[in-house]
Amino acid sequence: MDFDLQWLLIGLPIAFALGWIASRLDIGQWRRAQREAPKAYFQGLNLLLNEQHDKAIDAFIEAVQRDPDTADLHFALGNLFRRRGEFERAVRVHQHLLQRADLSGADRARAQHALAQDFVRAGLLDRAEEAYRTLEGTSFDIEARLARLTLAERSRDWRTATQIASRLEASGTGSYATRIAHHWCELSLQAADSGDETAAADALRRARDAAPHAPRPLIIAARRAALAGDAPTAFDHYSEVLRHAPAVFPLVAGEYATTAIRSGQVDAARATVQRRLDEHPSVDLLNAMRLLDGAAPAHAAVPDAGARAQALLHAQPTLSAALAVLDTPLDAHDEAALRDVREAVARAARAQQRYRCAACGFEAQHHHWQCPGCLNWDTFPAQRVEEL
Ligand SMILES: [Zn+2]
Repeated sequence: MDFDLQWLLIGLPIAFALGWIASRLDIGQWRRAQREAPKAYFQGLNLLLNEQHDKAIDAFIEAVQRDPDTADLHFALGNLFRRRGEFERAVRVHQHLLQRADLSGADRARAQHALAQDFVRAGLLDRAEEAYRTLEGTSFDIEARLARLTLAERSRDWRTATQIASRLEASGTGSYATRIAHHWCELSLQAADSGDETAAADALRRARDAAPHAPRPLIIAARRAALAGDAPTAFDHYSEVLRHAPAVFPLVAGEYATTAIRSGQVDAARATVQRRLDEHPSVDLLNAMRLLDGAAPAHAAVPDAGARAQALLHAQPTLSAALAVLDTPLDAHDEAALRDVREAVARAARAQQRYRCAACGFEAQHHHWQCPGCLNWDTFPAQRVEEL
């Protein structure tokens, strides 16, 4: 009895002590394991921030091996592979994620989205389209539709593009009207190229329905009318371009002048272009004006071509305007015109007289021994840009 009690008194504290040591050992080991996975992760992060992508990949692979259940590490690794241009490895990481049964719905969509981006970057557009298509109805829905729209435009699949854009428009994520109008314009031009006039006219009508004031459908309609010999209708369409999108008008000013002449509306057109030319000088408008001047009735007051070119150059000292002046008989010009030509040439030359760093492209008015942009020494050639 004494013996037993003695052993009990000694044994109990020892048992406690052993149990406590064992439990500490266990916790220590567990804590170490927990610490090591984030350590590798932070190491990878640190290397990433220091632009050491290769070493960062190694660190992330180590972290993934230690802690294979963490989806976030896989995402980090996969995105890193994609950014490095290692698309096959990025695809493998994201496909591996998708095969996991324990992946949450949100992470599954995220992995599918990442996979689609891998395919885009790898140039596998069919597979990208397929991957984006499976994202319909997920939190990446709009993003995936926008990506599919870009893919369809990139492969010039205008019919698919206009369908996707119409659905995006219907979902209220913004206005796609001008984009849809461009798709129908492309379809109209394609149909016209292949000789299908009915389809061309139909597509053009849809383009104008989509964006009634967009300039491109109006311009295509004008060209179609001019081609069919209907100059008055063409002139009306070009006039509409000027009314709704005046900034685009210089693109079609020449065609506007031609159809004005063919439909007998030279006087009206001359007044319109002159007004526009006074407000927004442009060499395209000057050329259109010259066409109209040539067709003006005998009683009209028409300034000579030299005077028109001089007026433009004075308002807008560009090289094109200077060229227009030099292209008219030189004896028609006074000293003021020569001063304007000199000013236009000097202005254009200023950009060419700079010095450009051969290392980074930094341009400066003066030569620098040390580049203010990249701080390299002796990277500025002694020659100015125009002499290189
Ligand atoms: Zn530089």
